[in-house]
Amino acid sequence: MESDYDVAVVGGGPAGCAAGVFAARYGLDVVVFDRGPSSLRRCAFLENYPGFPAGVDVETFYDLLHEHVAEAGCALASELVASVARGDSDSAFAVETQDGRRVTATRVVAATREAAPYLRPLDEGAMFETSDHGDEERERFDPDYADAGGQTPVEGLYVAAPAGELNAQAVVSAGHGARVARTLLADYRREQGYPDALADHWDWRRRAAELDGEWGDRDRWREWFDAQVPEDHPVSEDRLADLREADVDRRFDAYLTESAVEERAERGLERLVETLGPERILDAMDDERIRGYLGAE
Ligand SMILES: Cc1cc2nc3c(=O)[nH]c(=O)nc-3n(C[C@H](O)[C@H](O)[C@H](O)COP(=O)(O)OP(=O)(O)OC[C@H]3O[C@@H](n4cnc5c(N)ncnc54)[C@H](O)[C@@H]3O)c2cc1C
Repeated sequence: MESDYDVAVVGGGPAGCAAGVFAARYGLDVVVFDRGPSSLRRCAFLENYPGFPAGVDVETFYDLLHEHVAEAGCALASELVASVARGDSDSAFAVETQDGRRVTATRVVAATREAAPYLRPLDEGAMFETSDHGDEERERFDPDYADAGGQTPVEGLYVAAPAGELNAQAVVSAGHGARVARTLLADYRREQGYPDALADHWDWRRRAAELDGEWGDRDRWREWFDAQVPEDHPVSEDRLADLREADVDRRFDAYLTESAVEERAERGLERLVETLGPERILDAMDDERIRGYLGAE
């Protein structure tokens, strides 16, 4: 199936960005659309997201999220999605923006906590529920429409921001977005031919020093891989051999030498400073504190 993207994420808040980062890091082509009603932008100041000791202003947090999404390889589109429907091929989705741009994607992740009317063409409203507010009847996304991993009755559609408990706080939303991406990646790997026992992908970086003994040998991993494949697995030997090699490559790529760890640590800090802006960092400290840090008189 030919699509412009493997995954279209609608919503670039904590849930959508986490989903985008995880999917793109695996190597999928991902676009993240972000515009319109945002619950995070209604938050006055974010004080309870771990990793920011004195809190972080919401715009800076958005900048960091969006830089991360771009760094992971996602296309980031500041456009409002107006509709998601089945495309002409009937298996890809057609995502149309308010400005009339249309892209196709094999999978869609809905990550817009506040509203999801753009999904209406897909399921005749079965994913919405109404509630009474005095004289007014309001519609909202049915929090039970997707399962705990974000899967929905519409194949290829995932929900990463269903409102309710799973989106009650920003850090919970980010965690749920990551979980939904893991579900999506497992589905993708199954579709590629991996058996159930090997469907889950673990996005871990390990130290090369841990890669010792028998596990330093690619043949040991090949053997382990084969042991996970049931006898009646309906995939040809050739295809299985390709998957096995790709999987072993991926496992070895996850191990970093000490110098690679150091390089990444330095680059990680540089990217943070670049995103925040060196001037802002210096402005935030008075001269006396800067002199103190530099050990000057
Ligand atoms: C007043 C208020 C204060 C809050 N204070 C805190 C707090 O202090 N700490 C805390 O942890 N949590 C707080 N929250 C909760 C927090 O904002 C949410 O838990 C979190 O932002 C949910 O993340 P999300 O990614 O699911 O959705 P959102 O943050 O709503 O992000 C969704 C994104 O999707 C985009 N979008 C929407 N529709 C479309 C569309 N059609 N096409 C393209 N893009 C679209 C939006 O622009 C937005 O960027 C607060 C919420 C509110 C309302």
